[in-house]
Amino acid sequence: MTRRRWIAEHWDEATATITGAQAEHLARVLRAQPGVEADVVAGGHVFHAEVAAVSPDEVRFNLIAEVEADPALPITLVMAVYKFDHMEWAIEKATELGVSAIAPAIARRTEKHLAQAATKRAERWRRIAHESAQQCRRSDVPVIHDPQPLNVLVAAPPTAVRLVLAEQERSTTLRNALEQTMESSADEMPSFHLAIGPEGGWAPNEEALFDANGWRAVSLGPRILRAETAAIAALSIVASFLE
Ligand code: SAH
Repeated sequence: MTRRRWIAEHWDEATATITGAQAEHLARVLRAQPGVEADVVAGGHVFHAEVAAVSPDEVRFNLIAEVEADPALPITLVMAVYKFDHMEWAIEKATELGVSAIAPAIARRTEKHLAQAATKRAERWRRIAHESAQQCRRSDVPVIHDPQPLNVLVAAPPTAVRLVLAEQERSTTLRNALEQTMESSADEMPSFHLAIGPEGGWAPNEEALFDANGWRAVSLGPRILRAETAAIAALSIVASFLE
């Protein structure tokens, strides 16, 4: 039986503590007692740990030994803000698929009321990523950046492989682009920025903006996918080249 995994909020070299709702769940629902074993994530490292002390809103663990961590994929998903329920589902799936960071983007065709509500909603998106990371036993939680206008996010690090998922693109597939990238960067593992547009797609001036900032337009095939489907497909294809 695999040990349950908890992501600690506070830690030092010998102990780690979880607080709030997850501590309450562990204490009240799972009735944790001192001595119970678990995996505890502290500072991006995973430890075999055992419960040292339990109170209604705090559980402290003794860290016994570090165990093998599974590094996240070096991928940042630039995701245009769109219908929150679908977007939140995409955040959970991207977390399961190993994304390192998600940068919500305010795109031209992001609906105005969603653009205005996005910054406030980011805390909820962080909670979704945290819970999903715990559920899929990641040793880290993806970073959810504050929403930014697309024209800020296109200035991604020039060292990153920047790929914009473009539903109109016909000549270059994501796979083609990755094959070329992996050939040219023989030794070190590149990092990737993948951009997914809103329900209404990328506006023409956004496609020009990506192009002017060194992003490569790539296709996931002839069918028009929902943004969340495109995110899952793109992350899976990139992961297949990296893992
Ligand atoms: N409203 C647009 C579709 C937008 S789909 C239309 O009907 O044409 C939302 C996003 O998913 C797109 O902006 C793109 O980033 C991605 N996407 C969807 N299908 C894709 C495909 N076949 N290839 C590459 N990206 C795709």
